[in-house]
Order: sequence, then structure tokens, then C-alpha cells
Amino acid sequence: MELIDTHCHLTFDELAGDVAGIVERSTAAGVTGWITVGTDPKENQKAIDLTNRFENMYAAVGIHPHDAKDVTADTINQLKELAQNEKVVAIGETGLDYYYDNSPREDQKRAFAQQLKIAAELNLPVIIHCRKAFDETMDTLDQHGQGVKKVVFHCFSGSADQAKIVLTKGYHISFTGVVTFKNADKTREAAKAVPPERLMLETDCPYMSPEPMRKQKINEPALMIHTAKFLAELKAMNLPDFAQKVTATTTTFFNLPSKSI
Ligand SMILES: [Zn+2]
Ligand SMILES: [Zn+2]
Repeated sequence: MELIDTHCHLTFDELAGDVAGIVERSTAAGVTGWITVGTDPKENQKAIDLTNRFENMYAAVGIHPHDAKDVTADTINQLKELAQNEKVVAIGETGLDYYYDNSPREDQKRAFAQQLKIAAELNLPVIIHCRKAFDETMDTLDQHGQGVKKVVFHCFSGSADQAKIVLTKGYHISFTGVVTFKNADKTREAAKAVPPERLMLETDCPYMSPEPMRKQKINEPALMIHTAKFLAELKAMNLPDFAQKVTATTTTFFNLPSKSI
């Protein structure tokens, strides 16, 4: 089995000290590819540097909505340059977070629009972070996403109806271990609405370990196997079939070199 963790933060302090061990445990668990996601200029550079040390590890570069207030013209120019590195497979994470509102909403929208433009210019997929801002995120995509061919909503927290809207637009949806949480009925309903052809998996580690490992405070890619098992069961599929389909979806979406398919 070859699953791909499409959204991890291996450069964050909780994980960065032991990436070799993390990769080893992950591979043993059947999670054999990783996209480590940048959130600010420093993390973006670290993400690219890290991918040069490991096969099957790729990077996404972007400015998180939390950091949108610090985005200048220079930030955007530098991001565009970094995004042309051969190990970069996506722009992100970018989007809108009206739950924390760590940056003014106008700044979030502006930085999001600027990153959509880079993705269109470089023909890269976009990884969307959307929290309590569903309508505004869809509006921004409609207004500024011309030329963007591939979009994934990461750590999807919307309803089944919202999932259907996302799918109607041709976008993809990615789920974290949250879908395994006891109180996550809404997310499970959403997951039921997403076919494997449009679904991807992620840890978003170091955060949100899935059940039954939730007490492990620092999540890591090896634990994504529990999310995969859970979703396969939810969809009444056997795990190898589900894994094969979702990995094919992921490989195509991020245009990764296909190994064994
Ligand atoms: Zn996020
Ligand atoms: Zn993230």
C-alpha cells in the first residue's frame, strides 16, 4: 500500500528534529509519500530544503491567512520564485480564516487573490485553508481564480452540502484525522458525499492525531493509516482498493511522478 500524506508540516519545531525517523515510521505504516506545506517565507524555504533530503517528499509554498498581514510585494515576488523549484507541487496553504482572524480580512483576501494569480501563472494546484469563511472563499475563487485548474480544500470542516458545492466547481476535498473524532458527525457526512476520485488524505501534523491515537499529542504521517482505514470503512470499501484509488487521485492532482501505478 502506498498512501500519500498530502498536507503535513514536517518543518515545524515539533517534527523537524526527527524527520528521518518520521519518514521511516511512515513508510513502515504504508504512507510512502509526503507533501510538506509552507505557511510563511521562512517555512517555505525550509520545506524546499527538506524535500531535497528525501525521495517522494514534495513541497507546497504559500502564505497562511494568519500571516497575510505581513505580505508585501516582495513576499509575493519571492514566493513566485520559490514556487518554480522542481520539488514544489502546489501553492498553499492559502485561503481565509475568519475563525481566528489573526490577520485583517482585507489582507487575507488580498494575499489569497495574489497567490491564486501565481498558481494560474505557474499552472500549479492550490491548497486552500478555509475556516468559517466558506462563502467568501468561494467568492474569491470565482473572482480571482481564473486560470487556476486544480483546487483542494484541505482539512475540510464544512457540511455535506458545502462539500457538494465544492465538488460541483470541480475542486477536490482533503480530510484529516478529524473525521475519526467522536463529535465529527458533520465531517463524516461530508466525507460520504466525496467520491474517492475527488478525495485526498492528510495529517496536517503536528496537529490532530486521529482516533485511536488521539492521545498522541504530536501527530505524524504514520498515523494517517488510521484515517485511511476509517474512511475506507465509512465508504464500505476495502482498504487496499480505497488506498489505490485515493493515491491515484493524489498523484494526478499534484502531478507527482507515478511509480508503481
Ligand atoms: Zn490549514
Ligand atoms: Zn496546515
